[in-house]
Order: sequence, then C-alpha cells, then structure tokens
Amino acid sequence: MKAAIFDKPGMENLKIKHDVEQPKITDYDVLIRVKMAGVNPFDHVTISGTREIKPLPHIPGAETTGEIEKIGEHVSRLKKGDRVIVYNRVFDGTCDMCLTQSEMLCRNGGPLNTNIIGLVTNGGFAEYIAVPEKNAFKIPDDMQCELAASIPTTTLTPYHALKQTALKIDEFLVIFGASGNTGMMATQLGKKMGAKVIAVSKQNWIKDFGADYIITDYERVAEKVNELTQGKMADVVLNSLGIQTWENSFASVGLNGRWVTFGGLTGADVKLNVQSLYSKQIRLIGSTGGNRKEFTELIDMSKELKTRVWKKFSLDEAKEALQALFAKERDGRILINVS
Ligand SMILES: [Zn+2]
Repeated sequence: MKAAIFDKPGMENLKIKHDVEQPKITDYDVLIRVKMAGVNPFDHVTISGTREIKPLPHIPGAETTGEIEKIGEHVSRLKKGDRVIVYNRVFDGTCDMCLTQSEMLCRNGGPLNTNIIGLVTNGGFAEYIAVPEKNAFKIPDDMQCELAASIPTTTLTPYHALKQTALKIDEFLVIFGASGNTGMMATQLGKKMGAKVIAVSKQNWIKDFGADYIITDYERVAEKVNELTQGKMADVVLNSLGIQTWENSFASVGLNGRWVTFGGLTGADVKLNVQSLYSKQIRLIGSTGGNRKEFTELIDMSKELKTRVWKKFSLDEAKEALQALFAKERDGRILINVS
C-alpha cells in the first residue's frame, strides 16, 4: 500500500512509499481504507521524534476517517463498508480510568499523553490503518469527510474541555485563538451549550461559527471583556495558546470563573499569583483529549457542526501538508485526501 512513512525522526526523512506492507488485523481489529486524514501540530511533534515513537519505520497521522475493508473474527459492532472515524487513544478498557470514562488517561495505555494512535502505533497517513474495534465508530452516511476527519482531535479536545468547566446557559465564554482548528469547534460547541461566546481572533468569519462578539486586539483582551460583560468578566476562559496570552486570559476570568487549557503552544511556564486565584474563587482546569462517550455525542450532533477547510493535499503531498501548518496565511484546516 501507499503511505507517508519515516525510518528515523525528522521531516526530511518522511517519504512516500508504495510498497509498504498492509497492516494485519487481529480477531478484535478492523482494517480501514483511509479516506481523509486531519493534519495537526501533533503530527509534526510525532515526526520530530521528541516523543517515543512506535513502531519504526513509522506512519504518522492521528485523525482518521475511512471505510471498513475487513473485520476480525470477534468483531460484532461493525461490518465491511461502514464509514467510521477513529477514536485515537490507546487504552485497555479495564483500569480505573477507563472504567470511569477517562480512557484518554488509561494507566496502561503508555506514558501520559503519548497513548495516541499515530504516535505509539502507525497512523492514518496511509491507504490502510488497522485499529481495535473499540476505537472505530460508525458515522452517518451524510457526514462529510472534512468534518469526520476533524472530530478525533480537533473537536473532541475542546468539547471535553468545555464539559470539564460545566459551562452553563448564558455564561460568558472567552475563547483564545477562536479561528484556529480547535478554536472554531470550541466556538460552535460553546454556542450550542448556550453560552455567550466572545471570540479572540483576527478573523471576522468566526461570527458564522457562533461567536457573539469578537476581540481582535490580543493586547487588550481583559479590558474588552470587562466592557462586554459590564464588569462581570468571563465565567469560562479557554486558552491553549500558552504563555504569550496567559496574563490577559487569566485577567479575563471573573468571580467563580473557570480557566481551562489543553495546550501551551507558545510555552508552558506561566507565573501565577495565588491570591488572584483564591480571592475570586477561580478554578484552573487542565484537560486532555476526551472519552468515547463524548466522541459518540459529537457524532450524534455532527449535523449541527461544520469546519472551515483551508487546503486539501493528496497523500503524495503529505510533507507539504505538514509544512503548510505553519504558513502565516493559513486560515482553516489542512487535510489529506487519501482516497
Ligand atoms: Zn485503562
């Protein structure tokens, strides 16, 4: 089969090969013919080799949608021809985390935050991928591939994060990087949960995704939030941009507010004054990925979700697709159209 594959870490080592062996399935696996793959900064991390990669040579790609080609003997929920998306956490299903709907934190899935299909197993930048049946979920016939390839990471991550904050109707939700991959999904989900969404973004189109207000000046976010909420400040702030926006994002949180993150794009070491934390009774919340229940909830609400695609590449152009992630003019998702 054809695949984007590297035998040692480094983008320069990523090659398109036509004679890669098709993955074998066990009795409990399904073989998926990949249709489309989402491209994320995480795939860049995988190829750079800063985390432990298995196996080598390695096929990256953590966001995958396709069609079932073959099923193992003990597979009962899925059949050949089903369109599916891949829940990309490696988990055993039996530890205390898995049993309490925290599969992404599985104690036996590998070191924290590395238990990801595409990192510790081969991923979806290939014509075929094999995954356990428990990782594959059927999607509606009319669900577009572009959205399907955006559920496993790009939508599940902010969905879980917002659920962690127990966001309520009419609360003010401030989203940093609202027009980014996860940001545009967070904006839609926040709106669906009934919040008043304040998008911090330079893109006006985020209004079409449910933003009630847009703040374009990253230097004056707290000041603007103060104006928009008439001094109340935000009930929930979602900020995964890291240190560069930390001060403005924390200063935007109001009484009994929640500040949530699932990333630290510009750096993770921030300074916190504990008095400002306890005096307003603020809760700081860390969030990673999401669970399978939330995954299926997203499939159920897929009719009401959309994504903005910037560019689609072919599998032959996998390297260009990964490099395009860092293009200044990028304005929407990057996807790989595999077949
Ligand atoms: Zn587990």
